[in-house]
Amino acid sequence: MQDEFESATESSVASTEALTLIGNDVRAGILHALSDARGGEGNPPALSFSELRSRVGADVDSSRFNYHLQRLVGEFVERRDDGHSQLVETVVEQEGTGYALRPEGTMLTRTIRATTDGDGASLSPTELDTDCYFCGEPVEAMYEHALFKIQCPGCSYLYEYDFTPPGVLHGDDGSIVAQASEYNRSVRLAFARGVCHLCGNAVDTTFVEPSETGYPRPDKRAVCINRSCDRCNHRNYLRLGEALLGNPALISFCHERGLDVTATPIWKLEFAATDRHVTVRSTDPWEVALRVSLDGDTLELVVDEELSVVEHSIS
Ligand SMILES: [Zn+2]
Ligand SMILES: [Zn+2]
Repeated sequence: MQDEFESATESSVASTEALTLIGNDVRAGILHALSDARGGEGNPPALSFSELRSRVGADVDSSRFNYHLQRLVGEFVERRDDGHSQLVETVVEQEGTGYALRPEGTMLTRTIRATTDGDGASLSPTELDTDCYFCGEPVEAMYEHALFKIQCPGCSYLYEYDFTPPGVLHGDDGSIVAQASEYNRSVRLAFARGVCHLCGNAVDTTFVEPSETGYPRPDKRAVCINRSCDRCNHRNYLRLGEALLGNPALISFCHERGLDVTATPIWKLEFAATDRHVTVRSTDPWEVALRVSLDGDTLELVVDEELSVVEHSIS
């Protein structure tokens, strides 16, 4: 068995190499067993070689098991002596000598656990307590194949359509919609603020004519704000109202008039769920205005093509 400690360098494994590394039953079993051990109560333990091999239960001899284990050491796994990580100053006391996940391994296994669901669970179309702002039909939510969708069955206008991890399904039908909406709000607000929620990269901004997006009912949209990540290829089309949901002037204007936009589902906010109050002033360069009216007052915010607010007025 290899006993040398690995150097404390940052993992630089490329994404294709990462997929190759974990694309093996034994190595996947090792990562899963170490993730299981880390997820319990108390301090994250290190597992001895024999304990780890026992937990994985792979039908391979000791030397073969060690070969696979060492393929992971230095990338997603580290060997610890007297409980001390070679990599990070731990904030809680560590226990045991043996193998544990590196922080990169913890992030990887958590991502895989969060985005996979062996049950293939789904939410069949469920009527919500909100009527379509265009045609008046009650809108419906559904979840299938990792996509959460809220759409109007009457006019096909799409209110939400997001990759959503299956953890939102762990509840009754009412909490599923609430959890999915809350999760997707955090995703969309991260994009709105210019950060990819998956990889942390800064995202690009492009204003797009709705007819160029392939989304249903482009005739009911004024503009689509495409925020895309060139690192993980994640992208999102935002409406202007939701892109401005973190704007302090908008938050306070609504709060002073009894509406908490930080806690209301986006699809319940007409100015954020539709472009009915959006005016395109110019397309070259893009300049777009949003009007939010409450209690007889109207807040108007105007953004440029960088999504920066360039005008702000209340009338
Ligand atoms: Zn409709
Ligand atoms: Zn990204």
